Amino acid sequence: MAEFRVLPHSVAAQDFAAALGAFEKIVGVGWVIADEARLAPYRKAMLPVDIAAHAPSAVVMPNSVEQIQQLLKIANAHRIPFWPISTGRNFGYGSALPATRGQVVLDLKRLDRIVAVDPEMCTALVEPGVTYQQLYDYLAERNLPLWIDPPGPGPLVSLVGNTLERGGGNTPYGDHFEFACGMEVVLADGQVLRTGMGALPGSNSWQCFKFGFGPYLDGMFTQSNFGIVTKLGVWLMPRPAGHRTLLVQYDDEADLAKAVDTIRPLRMGGVIANTGVVGNAAIALTGVGPRSQFYQGQGAIPKEVVLTAARKFGIAAWNMTFSLYGTEEQIAPNLKIVTEAFERTGARVNPDAYNAAQVGVPSLTTLSILDWVGGGGLAWFSPVSPTRGADAVKQQQLAAAIHVDHGFDYMPGITLNARDMQHVMAILYDRNVEEQTRRADSCMKTLIRQFARHGYGVYRTGQGYMDEAAKQSGPVAAQVNRAIKRALDPNGILAPGKSGITI
Ligand SMILES: Cc1cc2nc3c(=O)[nH]c(=O)nc-3n(C[C@H](O)[C@H](O)[C@H](O)COP(=O)(O)OP(=O)(O)OC[C@H]3O[C@@H](n4cnc5c(N)ncnc54)[C@H](O)[C@@H]3O)c2cc1C
Repeated sequence: MAEFRVLPHSVAAQDFAAALGAFEKIVGVGWVIADEARLAPYRKAMLPVDIAAHAPSAVVMPNSVEQIQQLLKIANAHRIPFWPISTGRNFGYGSALPATRGQVVLDLKRLDRIVAVDPEMCTALVEPGVTYQQLYDYLAERNLPLWIDPPGPGPLVSLVGNTLERGGGNTPYGDHFEFACGMEVVLADGQVLRTGMGALPGSNSWQCFKFGFGPYLDGMFTQSNFGIVTKLGVWLMPRPAGHRTLLVQYDDEADLAKAVDTIRPLRMGGVIANTGVVGNAAIALTGVGPRSQFYQGQGAIPKEVVLTAARKFGIAAWNMTFSLYGTEEQIAPNLKIVTEAFERTGARVNPDAYNAAQVGVPSLTTLSILDWVGGGGLAWFSPVSPTRGADAVKQQQLAAAIHVDHGFDYMPGITLNARDMQHVMAILYDRNVEEQTRRADSCMKTLIRQFARHGYGVYRTGQGYMDEAAKQSGPVAAQVNRAIKRALDPNGILAPGKSGITI
């Protein structure tokens, strides 16, 4: 009998072997992975968690909804948990690792069809394996005047995985769940649910009207373990007549509040339509070179060292970018309004900057942050607050102190929406050094707890930190989630532990 290093919880080796044999009959030879060498890529993460606690037992790769339905029958019979992934590149939030040890990764990257694009309604319907690059190329090849909204690692990652995590990009369509419309979901018992207008046979508005009739269910399938999403509708931005990206810089670290309080009314009033981002000098320096180029000492890189190095490359204490879109005639008055607003607060404004993500172009430039320290360690901490200068400064001071205490550099890229800000920061460390990994884990846990004490929750977190984040929402939310889980997945076979939810 085959030997398994990792088994699903409470499943005997012989039952697991039988289940894998049955899985293989459904998906075909080569699409079930149980040997250690081929499992290795699925047992990697940038997060500072103990991989053994999250090691998958196997991987199954179906290529149709029907195959998923058949797999679920066997999984229910043997109580084998499936951890669905789309492209599995949830970098810095857990990559492809399941929330608990022994789950079978249900890798959906073979479902990679762009099912439909409607150039008139500016919508698309995609399967889980479709990457932002794939959709970008599809539109470019057909010369369709539509933009996608790529996240940082856009060329490599999926619209479905990103949207289900409620991730984001930087065009005016930057809040991906807000610009999603309609899902197809396979439930744990194999039934297929189409949300919104998709439930109506022959519906022609599945990708046009989000809400359908009755309760709006789509949100339930994001950051959850209530179903396997096999199709997602997304809205595409009509390519604007023109665009202009601005770089706004403040030399004084204390000026973060000015940046935030100035952009808020401009975002809220629609003068600035896209999700701007403001980063400090350290994160901007990652685009210039590795940390060792600027500092070889112990502990967090001193502020003065960062600011002195940054100045040589035209980088300020805070660097904010956002864009204006439209015709020359539309952009000109808005450019005047925003330039004057920021200059009044002492900022420098460069109206000729470039940011690929803000103009719908997938790019891998943000991955340079991984070279800052080297060694592949990255944990994102992503607390939310109102878009208010005082909150930004409070979070900055809290976060910087916790980073320095743990010997790490504070590297924020703050996402600026009209009413909420996501103060996303990267804990960068060398994953090959155990002591650094432990320190990064402690830094992450301290950040989550300390921020919660000040009323700041996270918008998203990764494997190993979900229970802690879920606890912060209190017992009633936990009870409601558990009731839904029990109703939809009584055997608890879908992604147990996702967002802290089990049966
Ligand atoms: C340098 C850098 C920059 C980044 N920038 C951004 C950014 O700008 N914006 C951003 O949002 N993220 C960013 N990320 C984080 C991450 O890489 C992306 O969010 C990425 O899109 C997630 O990976 P994925 O698309 O492969 O999703 P997956 O890993 O496939 O999915 C993520 C999770 O969603 C659930 N899931 C996935 N598919 C399904 C399904 N079909 N049914 C049910 N559940 C499912 C699973 O729990 C899974 O673990 C960045 C990472 C790095 C390293």
